[in-house]
Amino acid sequence: LRKSSPDKVGFIRYFSLFLISVLVMLPAGSLIIGRIKSYYYNRMEEEAHGLANSYAAKLETAVSASNIINGFLNEKISAASQVVSYFKDEISNKKLAELARVIPVDVIYVYNPQGEIISSSNGKYIGWRAYKGHPVYDFMMSGKKGMIGNIRPDSETGIYYKYGYYRSEDGRFAQIGVLSEKIHEFLKGFEIESLLEDIKKEDYVDMACFFSAEMNSENSSYYCADNNISISEKAWEAMARGEEYWENIEVSGKNIHQIIVPMIVSGERIGSLVIGHSTEKTDELIRTLTLISNLSLAIMFIFIFAATYSIYIRNKRLAHYAYYSPLTDLPNRRYYDEFLNAELSGGGKEKKAVMLVNLKNFMLINMLSGYHHGEQVIKNIANSLSRLENDNRRLFHLNSDRFVFYVKGYKNRKELNDIGAAICRMLREVLPSDNLGGSVGIIQVNKFSGDADILLKNASIAAQNAQERESFGCCYFNNEMEKKLKREEDVISELTRAAETGEGLFLEYQPIVELNTNKIYGFEALARLKTERLGLVSPVEFIPLAERTQLIVPLGDQVLKMACGFIKRLEIMGYSDLRVAVNISGIQLLKEGFEKKLIGIIKEHGVRPSSLDIEITESVFYDNYDEINKKLAVLKKEGMKIAIDDFGTGYSSLARQRELNINCLKIDKFFIDKVLTHKKRGMIMGDIISMAHKLGHLVIAEGVEEEEQRQYLIDHHCDCMQGYLFSKPLSEDAALKLLEAEGR
Ligand code: C2E
Ligand code: MG
Ligand code: MG
Repeated sequence: LRKSSPDKVGFIRYFSLFLISVLVMLPAGSLIIGRIKSYYYNRMEEEAHGLANSYAAKLETAVSASNIINGFLNEKISAASQVVSYFKDEISNKKLAELARVIPVDVIYVYNPQGEIISSSNGKYIGWRAYKGHPVYDFMMSGKKGMIGNIRPDSETGIYYKYGYYRSEDGRFAQIGVLSEKIHEFLKGFEIESLLEDIKKEDYVDMACFFSAEMNSENSSYYCADNNISISEKAWEAMARGEEYWENIEVSGKNIHQIIVPMIVSGERIGSLVIGHSTEKTDELIRTLTLISNLSLAIMFIFIFAATYSIYIRNKRLAHYAYYSPLTDLPNRRYYDEFLNAELSGGGKEKKAVMLVNLKNFMLINMLSGYHHGEQVIKNIANSLSRLENDNRRLFHLNSDRFVFYVKGYKNRKELNDIGAAICRMLREVLPSDNLGGSVGIIQVNKFSGDADILLKNASIAAQNAQERESFGCCYFNNEMEKKLKREEDVISELTRAAETGEGLFLEYQPIVELNTNKIYGFEALARLKTERLGLVSPVEFIPLAERTQLIVPLGDQVLKMACGFIKRLEIMGYSDLRVAVNISGIQLLKEGFEKKLIGIIKEHGVRPSSLDIEITESVFYDNYDEINKKLAVLKKEGMKIAIDDFGTGYSSLARQRELNINCLKIDKFFIDKVLTHKKRGMIMGDIISMAHKLGHLVIAEGVEEEEQRQYLIDHHCDCMQGYLFSKPLSEDAALKLLEAEGR
């Protein structure tokens, strides 16, 4: 039973929120970082574009200058070769040296048609012969008139030259060489390299190259402001196609973001600018950003986790407050309702029962010993009762003085009796005072038992019944109890109406007869309730209910008014010596200002107070002796007679009668009946009568039904009697008729 509880606060339900936020935020974080990365790469690309555009014009000039100079050089070499070929005769080395100085070029070689050097400007290599595969040999065999080659190392010295060749009519040919160093020196002013160096100086450029458009042709050229250059195959292809391209490459252990931008000048593509930028800083930035974003995510997760956890803990605590008694930490009324309704709807074949433990007069402890003590007693009771809990029994603390056991799977009624007895034993130990008590109402659950609330209500009815029988006891609920309760509810609702409107309430009058003369002494007014719904209801039933609900106060007022009305009628008819007795309940009497109100009603009706008698029961004196006695003194002084009703059924202290402000004793029917059965015991009555006479009290015998009883009362000098022997209670009119018949 302890496993299923309505107060559970699911951990998973709370933390799914946290998990969802993790699942959403992690990809969101990496997306953001991805975006930042591409933002920076895009910026690099844009900057490369910007640079390419801003340098495009300068590059164009440089490239075209370089091309023009190249052209000049070629022309120069070509012209020089032609000049040499014009020498028909053999040229001496000296002449060649002279020529080389004038032109000027660095070296001139003259070959015979077989490819053998016959003279040279530096006097060297005479007799050297071009061999197969050598560029000179290639020219010789080509049959071309002239040719300008690329810069290449000399096959003998390894020094770089740019060579030109020219063939004369007779088959000889000249080779003219210009040192590459000189070419570079000459080109310096127009060098693309210097432009590239400028580009490289730009903030974020780490590498810059230019590849001319005719890359694949013989005139192709490239210029780099860096030695560390690496161009992938794909990049070459893109360059050849004149397309834009970018890639990340690694050069000497560095990550380089390389961008290739075609350079368009006057609508014509002149080549491609390759710009490389070390991604080191960007990578560093992205790494820092990643770290920051990861850190913030982590902080956020920790925060969300902490918040969720604290909400979870708080709600758990709130659920505990909502479902447990703060005093005993036992499950409370709400828990009981939800738990039991779940149990009841769960079905199952096991027997189930609800046992309500109700403490009697518990408020007394609070009032007499203080609330702290009261709470301690409740805690002790809870501790004791918890000892009876096990896997099949669950204890609840509904409110201050009510506990409930839910018992499941018990074998038979004896088991429930044993639990009930154990509960009573425990309660008796904790509640030793006589005025206190505890009762157990038991209800066995069946399919017609109703829900948790109805079960509780019916168990309460059973507990109430147990309480009426003994201080510590158990009682099983049955339908009779419920019927009784329903009847009580009906009567109370009719009483409420009667109290408000007077509807259904009326009086009957029981004649009181003088025993000596057999004449009517007066009448006792008896309240009657007759309604359409319930018919005639006896005062034995409705007076206690009216007392319990305090309705007796307004009802009693109406009774008094009706009785005064009857007295007035009697006076008018000339029966002003007759008295009318009215029953007054202790609750009415204890109400502040009752005496004043009563005197007011009497005055209002214009009757004499000495025509009215008041009947009260002995029990009224139990707790409020002095107060009641003072009030009675006031009424007695006004001329009213005060009678003790049902004398002999309460604690009947004759000794106290002397102090009491009363002047009449009404001996209960119980004693009058004894006259017929236990004659000897009835003898006590003689003593009571003579004692009352000694105190100056009038004595009236109630419920006289037999002639024998009347005779006995006459013998013992009783003053008056009332009972069915003479007449049953009468209506006002019937009472007046009776008086008329008596011949008064
Ligand atoms: P009570 O004041 O002792 O009234 C006497 C009761 O005994 C009346 O019952 C009356 O009808 C009945 N009785 C009288 N003679 C005989 C007899 O020879 N044989 C039998 N069997 N009964 C007899 P009733 O009218 O049912 O009243 C019952 C009780 O209800 C009264 O007892 C009184 O305590 C209370 N009561 C009635 N009316 C009022 C009222 O207006 N105010 C208050 N506070 N209580 C009232
Ligand atoms: Mg009475
Ligand atoms: Mg009585």
